Amino acid sequence: MTCRKNNRKYGSAWIVPAVLLLAGCRASDRHVELPSPQAQTRPAPQAARRPALPPADTEPSRLTAGKRVLVDAGHGGRDPGAWQATLSKLPEKTINLGIARGLAAALQRQGAAVRLTRSEDEFIDLQDRADLARQQQVDLMISVHANSAPGSNASGAEVYICRTASEASERAARQIESAFKRAGLACRGIRKANFVVLARHPRPAVLVECGFLTHPDDARRLNDPAFRARIAAAIADGVTRYLLREPIPTSPTDPLVADRQLVP
Ligand SMILES: [Zn+2]
Repeated sequence: MTCRKNNRKYGSAWIVPAVLLLAGCRASDRHVELPSPQAQTRPAPQAARRPALPPADTEPSRLTAGKRVLVDAGHGGRDPGAWQATLSKLPEKTINLGIARGLAAALQRQGAAVRLTRSEDEFIDLQDRADLARQQQVDLMISVHANSAPGSNASGAEVYICRTASEASERAARQIESAFKRAGLACRGIRKANFVVLARHPRPAVLVECGFLTHPDDARRLNDPAFRARIAAAIADGVTRYLLREPIPTSPTDPLVADRQLVP
């Protein structure tokens, strides 16, 4: 079954969190940059400031009612993603899926309509993932990955937006970065790269690298379900605040950093 067939089958029905998206995919595309970046064309939402905290009697389950979020677990199927077997029992695709499922469940509890690009070990084309964000007019697409580096020194999470990111994408990234810090999770800051799932559709989009599988401590933690749950909760916190248009917390130590040197 291809992605497009699947989209027709489910139409705009947002069944959370178990809607499946089945398609074909290329390997290791997360690391492929687009030669011709496309601007995110969604106009930046006007700032309609809401209180930082909801009224005490607000039902948590209604906080983000009506908002649509697409949660994308990176890689899958024949594409394991980053995997250094000496450091990590699990391949990146499995770690990503665990975090994505926790994130989807947490966002659903806040009332958002959440869709997963995959909820199983499926191989899905990157463009199909991006197409789903466009077709479903999501308020945010969030792609979950784990990182790798040539050496073993790099550690901590990174938050990516595309080079021509909209104000909405940048706001979502800053909320997620801030949520990581509130949760006591290391975050190396916000970076820009034209990954397919960020740049090949016009909707707000963020990609989170949840840690380095090439770093012994990061790899050990990412293999721990409790740590993955902490990551999922932190991302959900940031996404919820983005959806609620809460003010961006000040983050004096982490301005946007330079583009990443992508590893093929
Ligand atoms: Zn990845």
